[in-house]
Amino acid sequence: MEPISGKKIFNALKNQDCIILACNSRIIPGVAKAVFKAAKDMDAALIMELARSECNQHVGYTGLTPETFSKYLLEANKDVGHDVWALHADHIGIKTGTREDIDDTKELIDAQIKAGYTSFAIDASHLFNFEGKTVEEELKPNIDVTIELGKYIMEKMGNNEFGLEVEVGEIGRKGAEGMVLTKPEEAVTYIKKLKEAGLDPDVIAIANGSTHGNIYDEQGNPIVQVSISIEQTKKVAKALRDAGFDVKIAQHGITGTPLELIKEKFPKGDIIKGNVATLFQNIVFDALKKYHPELYKEMFDWVIKNEPIEGKKPEEVFGKNGKYAVKVFFDRIYSMDEKCKKEIEAISYKEAKNFIDAFNGKDSASIVRKTM
Ligand SMILES: [Zn+2]
Repeated sequence: MEPISGKKIFNALKNQDCIILACNSRIIPGVAKAVFKAAKDMDAALIMELARSECNQHVGYTGLTPETFSKYLLEANKDVGHDVWALHADHIGIKTGTREDIDDTKELIDAQIKAGYTSFAIDASHLFNFEGKTVEEELKPNIDVTIELGKYIMEKMGNNEFGLEVEVGEIGRKGAEGMVLTKPEEAVTYIKKLKEAGLDPDVIAIANGSTHGNIYDEQGNPIVQVSISIEQTKKVAKALRDAGFDVKIAQHGITGTPLELIKEKFPKGDIIKGNVATLFQNIVFDALKKYHPELYKEMFDWVIKNEPIEGKKPEEVFGKNGKYAVKVFFDRIYSMDEKCKKEIEAISYKEAKNFIDAFNGKDSASIVRKTM
């Protein structure tokens, strides 16, 4: 089953009280099939995605390119046959905004379109004019690059509808007073400018207190994430609504957030896309540790040696930077034995179902189907 347009999914679910599970399956074996199956069994709309750093035309740290990622996903969904899913380019990150950076990004977009992607996230949130005197001046570098790339995608996709995510406020950035959160007026100014330029964004990623990946306390002990500011998220969503914009929020960095908190407190309908990445990687690493301890040890040692973080315990370093070992040990990870794969599949299936349930995503696929 081929992916459908991300815009179809976003439009159908924009005014429903649910969050679409967006899964970054950095490691395909066991995970992708299980997530498709969970979505199908729950009749939930699904997004499968990887960020530029994870997967690009030069091979990202997952060892995948847009072409191979797409191929593996179609293969994983072959027996499952889930029909309501989008193939999304998460964080098409533009870090410098130089000509070279932009040209390489266009080459990436070309590769993603060729591989059948149906949704794109332009992330120029790193580009920020700290000398700007107004919100608009501060955001101008981000606005300009987002418009250029958004128009490029429109041109290349031609008549094919696609989902569009944009980003204002770098996720996880810390200032002198802790996490830097996106202000409502920043989101409104940003979207206004994009709309004026002819872009039609569906969702916006904001900095609202989450962090990508596993998190730890000062002593290096793993902790749960309760830092997402529900209040700020609601304020941004309301400001966008009040300004007349039908743009909802994409929540990044959900791994580690207690399911109960998501279920009870996340404003569904304000947030409509929920990214879960590291959780699935953790499941794979735990299974490798159990079934392929030698491989796991080699990966662990490689990370400590090649991706160290000063002053941090080895467990925390691996928890944060273990992702970089995936490409290096790709062939051995992908040839894991059946027992290992089955365990990953069983746990991923259960976790994906838990998230879909906490996101109130059950039966959301039917709502999308009715609009098609
Ligand atoms: Zn993200």
